[in-house]
Amino acid sequence: MNQALNLFRLQTLDTQINRIGKRMKEIDLILRQDEAVQKALMKLEGSKQELNKRRTELKQSENLVEAQQLKLKRSQTNLFSGKIKNPKELQDLQQESEALRRYISKLEDDQLACMIAFEEAQQKSKMAEDQHKQAQGDKASQNASLSGENMKLEKELSNLIPQRQAVILGISAEGLNLYQGLLKSKKGLAVAEVLDDGCSACGSTLTPGDLQSARSPTTLLQCATCGRILFKS
Ligand SMILES: [Zn+2]
Repeated sequence: MNQALNLFRLQTLDTQINRIGKRMKEIDLILRQDEAVQKALMKLEGSKQELNKRRTELKQSENLVEAQQLKLKRSQTNLFSGKIKNPKELQDLQQESEALRRYISKLEDDQLACMIAFEEAQQKSKMAEDQHKQAQGDKASQNASLSGENMKLEKELSNLIPQRQAVILGISAEGLNLYQGLLKSKKGLAVAEVLDDGCSACGSTLTPGDLQSARSPTTLLQCATCGRILFKS
């Protein structure tokens, strides 16, 4: 039962399991985020409110023009009815008609401005609608791809867990204790491979005596510098 080899295998499995767990957490977080969609929705609602406001303004402006035009028509009818003979009265009526025409012309300018503002609001609302649809579509395809990745990771994990359980059976309680302690204190890397006669984690060179011990299948050697369990393949 080569302790160092089994611990190295355990380390390899735990590194993979950690990486998968981290990614799954990330995915879960992204799946629950829909900031872009919410932002687009708020913009859409704002643009619809603006459009309604502009529509009301335009309608009011149209009504105003219509009412004054009706008034002008009545004034004109009176003027040409032949019923009014008094020159002063006729003159007043004529002046009233002229004043109304000027007023209507001003109101029509306002109406045009309202029409332009309404059309602009319509365009903005249409754009906001497209952007919201786009954001929803983007989110849906992102979610689909992430859900696919998540399923793959779950499958990988379900393969790794039994492997981990099997490897642990080949490790002494003492070795496992040491490993777990180092895993915590060494940021998830408790076992380092010996490469080019040195510790692959911290880079320090091993003494010839340590190199000899690293080859032994029964003893556990720790790096004199970083304290990690050393494994020589
Ligand atoms: Zn080291």
